[in-house]
Amino acid sequence: EREEQAIKLDGMSVAEAKLLREKADTFEFQAEVNRMMKLIINSLYKNKDIFLRELISNASDALDKIRFLSLTDKDVLGDVPDLHIKIHADKDNGVLHITDTGIGMTREDLINNLGTIAKSGTSEFLTAISEGKADASSLIGQFGVGFYSAFLVADTVVVTTKHNNDKQYIWTSDAASFSIVEDPREDEQLGRGTRISLYLKDEAREFLQENRIRDLVRKYSEFINFDIYLYTSKE
Ligand code: ADP
Ligand code: MG
Repeated sequence: EREEQAIKLDGMSVAEAKLLREKADTFEFQAEVNRMMKLIINSLYKNKDIFLRELISNASDALDKIRFLSLTDKDVLGDVPDLHIKIHADKDNGVLHITDTGIGMTREDLINNLGTIAKSGTSEFLTAISEGKADASSLIGQFGVGFYSAFLVADTVVVTTKHNNDKQYIWTSDAASFSIVEDPREDEQLGRGTRISLYLKDEAREFLQENRIRDLVRKYSEFINFDIYLYTSKE
């Protein structure tokens, strides 16, 4: 039934979203990535809120990268000179968006970094856990769970991204496989950067509440050197 449930992307009708899905290329997650995702979901269900720390930290890394490039080449900032993170809770649709004006991802980056190349150390990490050398939560703490922790709170994750050297793409996943398609929405162009849109599970709707998000941002953004803006739609 979930398969049938078309995701309505901002600026797109359900019909348009369906059409786009037919055009998209579908990929399988690498086996290690799959194991990693299952492990995260099974061992961190009591610490769901760490997803926000991970996504803010990725946004901050992406902002650091473009800022670094801009030191030697001012033109890389183009029409998007402001480096920041915006969090938008869309209560009507049950979606939490985390948007940065960082370096963005090319199509190749999306395929490699979000699905087919496990980050270094993953295999050692999975071995240590399966051998019971340490408990999962302390190992995860050392290793950093990263992007896939988004699936702790979302059943569908949509990544909209634009890198200076490529077009804007939409990456979508329900944790079983992922797909990538060029983004045709003219009024949803980012200019540069990445938007992570979390279609929240029913039991994770607390993460749309302004106070809940604000407290987490305070807790997790102590060492973030970029402004973080929070917007919540009315109920
Ligand atoms: P890590 O941050 O340790 O590299 P993650 O799982 O958190 O691992 O992220 C995987 C990769 O996906 C990152 O290294 C980066 O290349 C890419 N990525 C994730 N989020 C973003 C983002 N907001 N902007 C640009 N690239 C991103
Ligand atoms: Mg990370």
